[in-house]
Amino acid sequence: MNSVEALLREDLRDFGGYRSARSENVEGSIWLNANESAWSSVADPPGVLRRYPSPQPESLRAKFSALYAVDETSLLIGRGSDEGIDLLVRAFCAPGQGSIVVAPPVFGMYAVSARLHGVRVVDVPLVDGDEGLRIDADAMAKVALAAGASLVFLCSPGNPSGEALSHEAIEKLARRLAGRAIVVVDEAYIEYADSPSSIALLAAHDNLAVLRTLSKAHALAAARIGCVIASPAMITALRRCQAPYPVPQPCAERARAALTPAALSRTRDDVARACGERARMSTALAELASVRRVYPSQANFLLVRFVDTDVSLARLLAAGIVVRDMRGLPQLGDALRISIGTSQDNDRVLLILAAADREAA
Ligand SMILES: *Cc1c(COP(=O)(O)O)cnc(C)c1O
Repeated sequence: MNSVEALLREDLRDFGGYRSARSENVEGSIWLNANESAWSSVADPPGVLRRYPSPQPESLRAKFSALYAVDETSLLIGRGSDEGIDLLVRAFCAPGQGSIVVAPPVFGMYAVSARLHGVRVVDVPLVDGDEGLRIDADAMAKVALAAGASLVFLCSPGNPSGEALSHEAIEKLARRLAGRAIVVVDEAYIEYADSPSSIALLAAHDNLAVLRTLSKAHALAAARIGCVIASPAMITALRRCQAPYPVPQPCAERARAALTPAALSRTRDDVARACGERARMSTALAELASVRRVYPSQANFLLVRFVDTDVSLARLLAAGIVVRDMRGLPQLGDALRISIGTSQDNDRVLLILAAADREAA
């Protein structure tokens, strides 16, 4: 038994998952094995949607393999990182038992997937200091070991903290939890960060999994395409827990189009633009009298504490500007999260908040 199998849910160790008609690797010219219609839909005259899609579209896998510089056997394509999170919870936590460790305030899907699976969520809060909202990796390791947690979720750059974790911190955690728990690094915003992806750490740590997505920097949120990148043994285990045809054909098509050299070059330009706007917004917001604190950010949003959050939020809303109210999250009773928009969008945010400052003065 390899170390991934040892961490896998005991009741799933001999589980093969669903065997779809597409699982069998055979050649043929007349396909009558999947009960698909013999005729195409009015909605799809060329009939490209008539057949079930490939469970893991080969050409898309090849493109992801090149983009993330990993072997195809280390990749699982799914419906956004959300599906990756859910698969990890379902594969590694026994339902109704076990626990995961998260560092709130953080992206809510880790806790949602755990709760739906009957798994306990153990919180190790972020620590608010001069440098921003930071994880306490040492406390996370201790708590995970004490609770016997199966998974520890890290978010780097953090949503909403904006903090990018160092490779040293991630590796230290992975080493301390080796053979005991899996460390998941959610890199939904890594394209906007100065630091490199933790994919490079996978070779040395078989209890590490990295989540990547096309939803943010690649501007394909509605296509619902994301990847889990991990050891081949972990990918095989997750694949057995996944739905038979998780990647809709039209979505795979758009994803492929987003990964051509020309598209990737455009994405890099747009990311650079977003980072430039982030720096400009961060400085300008910090100068406003109504702003208490702007957190450093390695992502495409800014976490901002306001003096009177009700008033600032109402001003923005009255101007048709919708930002994320973070006040329901622990430690963020006065905070809003503002995504980086186009320079016109951002100008508008600054204009409205500056006008409110002048009126209050
Ligand atoms: C937006 C976001 C995601 C993206 O989820 P998808 O399912 O890939 O759209 C994942 N993790 C975090 C922290 C996010 O903020």
